[in-house]
Amino acid sequence: MRALQYRAIGKPPEVVEVPKPVPGPGQVLLEVTAAGICHSDLFIMGLPEDHYVYGLPLTLGHEGAGVVAELGPGAAGVEVGDAVAVYGPWGCGRCDACLRGAENYCTRAAAAGIMPPGLGVPGAMAELMIVDDPRHLVPIGGLDPVEIVALTDAGLTPYHAISGELSHLAPGSTAVVIGAGGLGHLAIQILRALSACQVIALDVHQEKLDMAVKVGAHEALHSDADAAHKVRHLTGEVGADVVLDFVGSSATLETARTCVRIDGSIVIVGIGGGVLPAGFFSTPFGVRVRNTYWGTRPELEEIIALARTGQVSVETERFSLDEASEAYRRLGEDDIRGRAVVVP
Ligand code: NAD
Ligand code: ZN
Ligand code: ZN
Repeated sequence: MRALQYRAIGKPPEVVEVPKPVPGPGQVLLEVTAAGICHSDLFIMGLPEDHYVYGLPLTLGHEGAGVVAELGPGAAGVEVGDAVAVYGPWGCGRCDACLRGAENYCTRAAAAGIMPPGLGVPGAMAELMIVDDPRHLVPIGGLDPVEIVALTDAGLTPYHAISGELSHLAPGSTAVVIGAGGLGHLAIQILRALSACQVIALDVHQEKLDMAVKVGAHEALHSDADAAHKVRHLTGEVGADVVLDFVGSSATLETARTCVRIDGSIVIVGIGGGVLPAGFFSTPFGVRVRNTYWGTRPELEEIIALARTGQVSVETERFSLDEASEAYRRLGEDDIRGRAVVVP
């Protein structure tokens, strides 16, 4: 079968022919119907050799949807032909976090060498993929896999980041979304669906700001040194209740630090490598700072439910497996509208 693989440090990924995978005990083989392209893939493909821990060659794709093609010995709970989305942050399945469905915060995965598809084991950018356990599969019914595949990360990750802040997003409050790309354009819709807060989006490209408004942002501002001042102005000089940073550079974290209100929250989702100073005088009093990773399995069902009722929808640009490398190049230039989705 054909697969898109990252094969050599610093080189673009390539489409290659690889053997058809065979599901082992308890595993499920999916015929992939859609695979999303995440900025984190560019991050890992930009790592120098001594920091790269995902194995080579690596079949990319940690956002996946497919149809069950075959069950390994003993695998149960899904049937051949079921249309499913893949819950990507695989955990041990047994620790306290996994038992709550929060495999994204599994306490044993790292030590046990359990890695997500596309980020250590073969991912969804292929005609077929192996899913380790049927519990990682969420039925999507008649939803279009291309339209919803990005919910498995670009939707789930902001959903998780926002659900933890809902008690701070009462009517009259303000949330700031920094970076209106794949994750950010869904964060705006999730905020509008789950709360009555004012949503202010920040980005560095006018097309992204236009899209932010189209998908529900009340205000859209250029992300520059003056942005925090403008956010304060739009909040009656109080500041934002919740700042969600989908970039995570030192510049955006500085914006977050200077526009958050007393007793507000900063949630760091972007892996831009920036640093937020922590000390008694570095933020307004009472500020909570969290970093969040992906989301829980129940939250994946919830974000898919929001798509089913039409309350969130992913802006997608569609690519073939052969065009995926070009899609990555464009993502690196902030030139993808919403999410790029590969149809193998
Ligand atoms: P994306 O490229 O689709 O979106 C990034 C957006 O940020 C773009 O619209 C870009 O124009 C904008 N941007 C760039 N610099 C900016 C700045 N200085 N100020 C404001 N906006 C700016 O990327 P994505 O796939 O949505 O991922 C966003 C980030 O989240 C990446 O760092 C990615 O690696 C990370 N991520 C984290 C998790 C997690 O679990 N924490 C999960 C998925 C992705
Ligand atoms: Zn991702
Ligand atoms: Zn676990």
